[in-house]
Amino acid sequence: MHEEVTALNPYYMAVQQFEAAAEKLHLSEDMREVLRQPKRELAVNFPVRLDSGRIKTFTGYRVQHNVNRGPAKGGIRYGPDVTLDEVKALAMWMTWKCAVVGIPFGGAKGGVICDPKQMSPAELERLTRRYTTEISIVIGPHSDIPAPDVNTNSQVMAWIMDTYSMHEGFSIPAVVTGKPLSIGGSEGRNDATATGVLFVTRQAAKRIDMPLKGARVSIQGYGNAGAIAARLFHNEGCKVVAVSDTRGGIYNESGLDPSAVLRHKQERGSVIDFPRAQRVRVQDVLEVPCDILIPAATEGVLTATNADRVQARIVAEAANGPTTPEADKILFDKDIIVVPDILANAGGVTVSYFEWVQDLQSFFWGVDEITQKLEVIMNRAFSAVAEKAEQYHCDMRLAASMQAISSVAEATQVRGIYP
Ligand code: NAD
Repeated sequence: MHEEVTALNPYYMAVQQFEAAAEKLHLSEDMREVLRQPKRELAVNFPVRLDSGRIKTFTGYRVQHNVNRGPAKGGIRYGPDVTLDEVKALAMWMTWKCAVVGIPFGGAKGGVICDPKQMSPAELERLTRRYTTEISIVIGPHSDIPAPDVNTNSQVMAWIMDTYSMHEGFSIPAVVTGKPLSIGGSEGRNDATATGVLFVTRQAAKRIDMPLKGARVSIQGYGNAGAIAARLFHNEGCKVVAVSDTRGGIYNESGLDPSAVLRHKQERGSVIDFPRAQRVRVQDVLEVPCDILIPAATEGVLTATNADRVQARIVAEAANGPTTPEADKILFDKDIIVVPDILANAGGVTVSYFEWVQDLQSFFWGVDEITQKLEVIMNRAFSAVAEKAEQYHCDMRLAASMQAISSVAEATQVRGIYP
């Protein structure tokens, strides 16, 4: 593979990060072999009837990386660029993420190669129901629990829950998280990822004596993670100076109104052309003058090419895998705190865990209790990782990976090898 393509392959990135932590932990080669690859990779090709009457065959995946600490957990994404390597990387990151915040899940991820923007709601429903049927041999409330990710939402989760329940003959809400409240969803799940990003950013800012009030924030991606982060950081007193989506970015040094930008995006399909803002390119939002940068879109956007131009003091990774290992080195040398994805965006899976627990016991908690529990978990995880980073004089990604990998290795060790 061409060098640059290899560097941006998410699975290659994930394995590189794993090797760096495994090396520092002096993990045995036998254990590395177990943890380096996913336990299970399922690829499915399935037909869906389109509105035109045509039948199109789609390809989807479900990958379970490791289940030694508990059932597999991870989102499902829809997109034209989904690949098996991407899903494998995201499944591995999920294993580490659950371990970093200490929730009893292993890692999984799923994806379907499709262009949801070109499909009608009815087509998306048929695609979701058939994909769910195809992967139902591996998912279940005690084996593997999907959740929303890029281009999937609570409606998609409702279809998954309904399809799985129809097969079993009764309702099984705990098979999936991120559901609507009316069918066993949890209070606070929608905002959970962004809320977690805010909690860890507060901690990071405290460490460098940077007040959040008035801090300039730039956000790449204006979906579930990005748009809600914009609202929460704005409410915290920050100035959201730039945001972007796939079509472009907008910048205003005096600050944007996140709710108005969201309304504009809902009406026009994009943040671009928002009045009272300067139009910038998608990648410019990573480089504008700001104090906090939140990549909240996709993998491999901070690279050896642009990392040197990042002006923020804190990078809080709402997205999974936004920073390549080469960019990590550059940001570390520039003294920029990178709160890594497996810690920064773990609020989503943490409240998913709360949802699963509530579904299993059919007893539901209020939003205040959920936010409070989430804050305790995120703050505890942040402190543990920050202390480890200080102890080893390394960046927070390496520290978080070491923390997670040693916990998964210990679970693997103590369970022993079957048979
Ligand atoms: P989403 O589909 O709701 O939103 C994605 C946003 O990113 C959209 O605004 C889209 O236009 C934009 N985007 C996509 N590709 C882009 C590109 N190349 N450049 C600029 N913008 C681009 O998805 P989401 O759920 O918000 O997920 C975003 C990221 O956060 C992903 O990496 C996902 O894995 C991660 N994440 C999400 C959750 C969650 O609970 N939703 C939890 C943890 C991590």
